[in-house]
Amino acid sequence: MKSERAECGFLSQRLHELGNSLDEYLRFEHPDAMSRYAEWHGALARSLPEEGVGIEQVVAELGQHIIPNGSQIPNPGCTAFITTGATSVGVLASLAGSVAAPQRLGLTAFNYLEELSLEWMAEMFELRPEMKGLYSSGGSVANLVALGAARQWAFERLGIDPSRDGVQRPCRIYATAASHHTVHRSAAVLGMGRNAIITIAVDEQGRMCADALRQQLQADLQDEQLTDRGCVPVAIVGNAGTTNAGVIDPLHDIGVLAREFDIWFHVDGAYGLPGILDPQVRPLYKGLSMADSVIVDPHKWLGAPVGIGATYVRDRSLLYRAFTQEESDYLEGSVRDDNFQHSMDGLGIPYYDFGVELSAPSRGAVVWALIREIGKEGMRERVCRHNAMARRVAELAHAHPNLEVVQEPTLSICCFRYLDNDAGELNTLNREIHRQLVHQGRSIPSTAMINGVLAIRPCFVGARTTWEHAEQVVEEVIAAGDALRNVRA
Ligand SMILES: *Cc1c(COP(=O)(O)O)cnc(C)c1O
Repeated sequence: MKSERAECGFLSQRLHELGNSLDEYLRFEHPDAMSRYAEWHGALARSLPEEGVGIEQVVAELGQHIIPNGSQIPNPGCTAFITTGATSVGVLASLAGSVAAPQRLGLTAFNYLEELSLEWMAEMFELRPEMKGLYSSGGSVANLVALGAARQWAFERLGIDPSRDGVQRPCRIYATAASHHTVHRSAAVLGMGRNAIITIAVDEQGRMCADALRQQLQADLQDEQLTDRGCVPVAIVGNAGTTNAGVIDPLHDIGVLAREFDIWFHVDGAYGLPGILDPQVRPLYKGLSMADSVIVDPHKWLGAPVGIGATYVRDRSLLYRAFTQEESDYLEGSVRDDNFQHSMDGLGIPYYDFGVELSAPSRGAVVWALIREIGKEGMRERVCRHNAMARRVAELAHAHPNLEVVQEPTLSICCFRYLDNDAGELNTLNREIHRQLVHQGRSIPSTAMINGVLAIRPCFVGARTTWEHAEQVVEEVIAAGDALRNVRA
């Protein structure tokens, strides 16, 4: 019978083998996992093992059957997802944390790096100094935590503690149709209900209409049915980079209205907050300083391994009241005074009381490593390059008779499509072009619906994705479109 191998010195040998398999994977010279489905499925589909095979065999199987049949997301030609392949330093820091700090708790370097890296990001993205944060698993939870703070603030002012007593009144959250669906889900989980989301009209470029927002806020104040039921306006949500098209709402105008109507202003920058590093688009972030909460996903543009989002709020004590756990014996630090002499003497900054996760990995070390490796200037260079690549795609599309830009890029997303006067349904045609690209496996964009128009949507966020990938996706769309035309002709 095999027992587990956990002795010292054993990990480094296995890491070496694993590293070779991963480097090999990242060359993307292997066929796609689907084309080898029968092979790996046959090797992996086994019943529950009664006896173990031992770690050598497990590492061998990882290298042989599993890693080579992984995801296309880290492929530099893959621009489909807004999450991306992790950079090497992020992977290494993540591994370091999983070995040396399986929890972010304790008076350790890892607990300290949670706070330090949050401060670094806040400074890099020009948040106000009083904005304090915490990590969670991604934008979904980051939005939930931020809106939890908004709910707490809105109800406490009415003398109600919503985390203790629940939400007993109708609530409203104002957002656009392009807001991420996790905003709706957060409203549901926080007991306000999906119907709390009121959709505000957008302009031709997909940005929230400040005038429409003002009208809605005023109308709601005067609506006797709502006011009689004690309706609580909980938050206005502005996008700093929508997922579909990278649109940035007029944050300043929204912020002014939020102040005027005294409503919490939340900015969802899960994808787009790092865009502020690009001097060409930085002016669009004017008004960010008025936000009461902001989220960003290091596992998107910053290149962290997936599972890292961050929420910032202007007052972390709100989070404490919204999310603190009941006192419990299992959460005692071993020492309760400030006489710390050992890393187990205290639990460090109590992030577990600011959000919805108790046990959680040390994510701060990962973000620290990402920023430490290339600095703010390295991040800026990447963001500027990706934004310029999206503009380059738009430029190429404008110049080509058979291409059309569906939505001009704001950040690193460009939505465009192939045109053919003789083809009946352009949405069908572009869906077919997209499918061909995905099957070829060199350029893998996604599609996006923009006002009923199906667009090809490359989103440049991967650290390994460069100019040639931007030009390649345009060339491949043209080639696939032309070929389909010839088939019909
Ligand atoms: C990706 C995204 C989210 C959700 O984040 P996850 O990390 O996928 O949970 C929320 N808002 C926006 C704008 C996003 O782009």
